[in-house]
Amino acid sequence: MSRSPSMTGVVMVGASGRMGREILQVLSREDGICLVGAIVEKGDPLSGGPAPFHPDVTCRGELTVDDLRKGLQNGMSIVGIDFTNVEGALSTSRTFSEAGVPLVVGTTGFSPAEKEELMSHASRIPLLVAPNMSLGVHLLAHLVRQAAKALPGFDAEIVEVHHQKKKDAPSGTALFLGEAVASGRGENLADRSVCSREGIVGERVPGTIGIVAVRGGDVVGDHTVHFLGMGERLELTHRASSRETFARGAVEAARWLATKKPGAYRMEDVLGIGR
Ligand code: NAD
Repeated sequence: MSRSPSMTGVVMVGASGRMGREILQVLSREDGICLVGAIVEKGDPLSGGPAPFHPDVTCRGELTVDDLRKGLQNGMSIVGIDFTNVEGALSTSRTFSEAGVPLVVGTTGFSPAEKEELMSHASRIPLLVAPNMSLGVHLLAHLVRQAAKALPGFDAEIVEVHHQKKKDAPSGTALFLGEAVASGRGENLADRSVCSREGIVGERVPGTIGIVAVRGGDVVGDHTVHFLGMGERLELTHRASSRETFARGAVEAARWLATKKPGAYRMEDVLGIGR
């Protein structure tokens, strides 16, 4: 694809990972947005070679503020997408913040302090952090908020299932859905969540929000929010069967974010779903 100033250029950080490759593939098919940089971890076998699906872009093991600034000088809007790990994403966010380049972060697993550091960059750049980039999950969160509000006496439990290679637990999406339950009840998840139960834990404490992680096989990502009442229960489920849904969402978010002012944005803003 030829590059013109009206085009959005994407710097993909974590280009050799499961999500990175999926995003590179989506970018190879999209109009108006193209890959301009592919960053892999130092020592990655792809370093120095062509990026998957983009033979004209070389994978590199480092990303500097100067490179990003030079990218901006050619008139194209530049935006970063990060799908790495917590350490990688924090380092990426510092570099993009210093260079003044918008950034989409799909990486999950941040502690509250790490999340705070990450979000602090929103004062300098347009920043969108989303533990799940699919349309369906954001609609689910919307419905969960309504259900939590309508069913205050029901017990809420979230069960998530992911593939055997997933490193963090519970998933960022499960926590996001937990926040939806808590906000529907006018509470904070941090005060209500119970992420593990073992041994003689006693009776369920009313008002808590349980989160359970299941790991195995090649499951891309399932999330069910259970609302359990006396004599009835409601289950709201989302199942992702392909990573492409997240990759498409990340590319759409990048396209949308490229022209925004500095600030913290959410997938709901991109998708136009009410918060
Ligand atoms: P993965 O392990 O397959 O890929 C991560 C890649 O990042 C690896 O290739 C690794 O070498 C690379 N990396 C690590 N540090 C780096 C750095 N500093 N610079 C450049 N590259 C670096 O993992 P994955 O399945 O692609 O998932 C990545 C992250 O995205 C995880 O946190 C996962 O939970 C999250 N995720 C989010 C969504 C979403 O919709 N937001 C969807 C799926 C996965």
